[in-house]
Amino acid sequence: MPSRLGRGEDVVPELPEVETTRRGIENAVINRTIVSAIIRQPRLRWPVPRGFASRVESRTVASLRRRAKYLIFDLRQGASADGAVILHLGMSGSLRLLPSATPPLVHDHVDLVLDSGLCLRFNDPRRFGSVLWTAQDPLQHPLLARLAPEPLSDEFNGEYLARAARGRRVAIKQLLMNSQVVVGVGNIYASEALFRARIRPRRAAGRLRSEEFDALASAIKVVLEEAIRAGGTTLRDYVNPEGMPGYFRQKLFVYERSNEPCRVCRLPIKQLVQGQRSTYFCPGCQK
Ligand SMILES: [Zn+2]
Repeated sequence: MPSRLGRGEDVVPELPEVETTRRGIENAVINRTIVSAIIRQPRLRWPVPRGFASRVESRTVASLRRRAKYLIFDLRQGASADGAVILHLGMSGSLRLLPSATPPLVHDHVDLVLDSGLCLRFNDPRRFGSVLWTAQDPLQHPLLARLAPEPLSDEFNGEYLARAARGRRVAIKQLLMNSQVVVGVGNIYASEALFRARIRPRRAAGRLRSEEFDALASAIKVVLEEAIRAGGTTLRDYVNPEGMPGYFRQKLFVYERSNEPCRVCRLPIKQLVQGQRSTYFCPGCQK
């Protein structure tokens, strides 16, 4: 069984949590019209744009997409496309679907009230998240236009990684966490993918063999897909007024398992610091 995440620092929503959120709310928002938008706190990572409410009111959600860790709500008015909401959960953000009369909690900053009687409520204690609006193609928005490939896309594969790593002496784990190389591979999933691919995190990126790049690209897809599936079992939480977001964690092999026996070879898992972040690896399984 995947374990429920705690409320500590490491609950930062990563790509699987954002994708789980997207899937969890998709059916409740698509083809629903936004009756009103309530902004209780506009000072997020970037301020909620002036006039946000009037831009989204009476618009219908045409589709809900994800790019990196951004959720994109494409809006339409009648049959014509009419802007998009770009939402980022930041370090501590979450979205819940609630009956719209539910009294807000202290960190409930933004509501999109839907014509179904539910509202989509954005809660973010640390306020590193953002709720933006754009008239243009959201994928061309300055925050999204230059993002690296999605790890779950065909474009991201061993060949792509090998090209990105060519001639680079940076540690392979740092390369994976560089959002100009690939988006959405955070600390947990970089550590877990390197374990599955049997590669030590400190190896120079440019020195990996082509089979290792292939194994690593596949391992990244596998760990992310498993995490999305683990989150996907908790969709009921999104309609539970008491419920916190349904982020569950898959069974991890190395992350935060310092000194515990490797699940494969029983040697103690080692911890080191790379780029001010903890890295975990198995000295027996990873070369
Ligand atoms: Zn091991």
